[in-house]
Amino acid sequence: MPTPLNSQPQETWRLALKFISQCPVCNAKYEESQAQLSGKKDHANLVHIACVKCGSYFVAMVMEVGSGISSVGTVTDLNSDDIKRIMDLPEVTLDEVLDAHEFIKNGDIDKFIN
Ligand SMILES: [Zn+2]
Repeated sequence: MPTPLNSQPQETWRLALKFISQCPVCNAKYEESQAQLSGKKDHANLVHIACVKCGSYFVAMVMEVGSGISSVGTVTDLNSDDIKRIMDLPEVTLDEVLDAHEFIKNGDIDKFIN
């Protein structure tokens, strides 16, 4: 039986671990101690999980939606330090996206990277 979020003293993102319970690479059960909150904004939580068996990483966005939670995630090669470093970088601007598009379209991606 589902429990309303507002009656739980536990952090919302930890509730999502009940659904993100096993590694998609090796199927080992995740240890809750291997999950950590990498970022939080409003009702969105970025959670990073390391598999103790195969060493792969999984990152999930856990969102509070009404009285429930929703999550989406993927396997990644970013460790928790990489995630924190990226979170501190400035946002990509629209001009940067358009510049990248032009470089790719013109076959000049090397100029964009360098
Ligand atoms: Zn694994």
